[in-house]
Amino acid sequence: MALRKVRTIGDEILYKKCKPVKEMTPRLSQLVDDMFETMYENCGVGLAAPQVGILKQIVVIDVEDGDQYLLINPEILEEDGSQTGQEGCLSVPGKSGQVTRPNWVKVKALDENMEEYILEAEGMLARAICHECDHLKGELYVSRVEGELQDVSDLEED
Ligand code: ZN
Repeated sequence: MALRKVRTIGDEILYKKCKPVKEMTPRLSQLVDDMFETMYENCGVGLAAPQVGILKQIVVIDVEDGDQYLLINPEILEEDGSQTGQEGCLSVPGKSGQVTRPNWVKVKALDENMEEYILEAEGMLARAICHECDHLKGELYVSRVEGELQDVSDLEED
């Protein structure tokens, strides 16, 4: 495994649409391993492939609920409710902002064997799925922030 460089806001790759994965290859399998390692190293709860410079529809998530999630070609089928809370992103270091997301989502995705599965998620996991799926469309959470983007250090002082 290897750490990958995380692209940050302003890098044009973060604003491009990602292509679906057609087949799992050794290279993509390596990418998935590297994405998990890079996410953990940076204390993130999710990472999308474009954040490490790869325009493929691959997302990894670990919101510390005891599971690791790999979502290939994810598609949000249904959403319900809403939650408003602070959100951050490894591509926007040191910043945080208030974003409203659905409180529940039902998502269809492929696993590491390219087999389809359905995941129903709420709360933090639902938020992470929405955030990461935005990355695959070339969207950053900063465009959804209500009010001002804040410095994380300022928040900790409050
Ligand atoms: Zn992000």
